[in-house]
Amino acid sequence: MKNCAFCKIVAGRAPASVVYEDKKTMALMTIAPANPGHVLVITKKHFPALESMEEKIGMYLFKITMRVADAVRKSGLRCKGINLFLADGEPQQEIPSPPHARNSKIPRRQFPDTSRPWLQTLARGT
Ligand SMILES: [Zn+2]
Repeated sequence: MKNCAFCKIVAGRAPASVVYEDKKTMALMTIAPANPGHVLVITKKHFPALESMEEKIGMYLFKITMRVADAVRKSGLRCKGINLFLADGEPQQEIPSPPHARNSKIPRRQFPDTSRPWLQTLARGT
């Protein structure tokens, strides 16, 4: 997609700190980390939402997400757990974000993380 920041990274037209890459996926450090070690795992092919993603690539994305989460835990970063967040669908206007489905792995340092109220919301599932 022409105006998608992640597609620009995949095409090599925008800089990124890439920590993993294969034929189908890419893992990169986010420019706005919730905590040190916050990594995004994206598909190289643009899918604006899960409903447009083939089940097979969704399963593969989660497989790579699990591997990256394991690497974050073993990296030596202060990490008591991992919060996994899936961005699916059109972004909300108050949070600019490319419409490219992706998984975020956010190292959890303490619970509840009072510095990030939205993480508590994610943890509760509400
Ligand atoms: Zn994209």
